[in-house]
Amino acid sequence: MPRNLPNILVTGTPGVGKSEMAHMLSEKTGLTWLDVSQLAIENKCVDEYDEVYQCRTLDEDKLLDGMESAMNGGGIIVDYHSAELFPERWFDIVFVLRTDNTILYDRLEKRGYSGKKLQDNIECEIFQTILEEARSAYSKEIVHELFNDTFEQMTNNVDRICQLLEQWKINNQQT
Ligand code: ADP
Ligand code: MN
Repeated sequence: MPRNLPNILVTGTPGVGKSEMAHMLSEKTGLTWLDVSQLAIENKCVDEYDEVYQCRTLDEDKLLDGMESAMNGGGIIVDYHSAELFPERWFDIVFVLRTDNTILYDRLEKRGYSGKKLQDNIECEIFQTILEEARSAYSKEIVHELFNDTFEQMTNNVDRICQLLEQWKINNQQT
């Protein structure tokens, strides 16, 4: 079934500013912001703390099942640090946020990350892992790379996304 409103994926390495931007975008557009890491906890889709990677194991099927009906309705801004977890058909537009390594390092350190976890995330950004992931998971025309080092860049990005949204609505008008 065609959607009246697009679903948007906001992805990128932890700390690039997904939640900050998704929040601002949802305030501005009235679309629904879905913080998937938060949802995974609320829907009890995470278990077993992994000591080496300092993270938890995710029950992907349960998480995706819980999102399905909302996604079918359209108008959802999905905020998650991975691009390949979701079905391709869910998204109309994909944004990959990028941040300068030094700036990202400071943000993650402030968040309390250290050691392997901090190093892994910085490497993830250096090797533009999530951008590559997004480009292979979705058609290239819908994947946009956005730089998010400063608040000024973020507000510019939000304005640009609003324009893309309006264009999407024109292109996908229901008769
Ligand atoms: P993510 O959801 O991608 O992990 P957050 O939105 O939580 O990232 O942002 C990480 C940190 O960076 C937060 O402290 C946030 O305030 C800060 N931040 C996010 N976007 C910007 C920006 N454009 N300019 C400066 N700081 C930012
Ligand atoms: Mn976040």
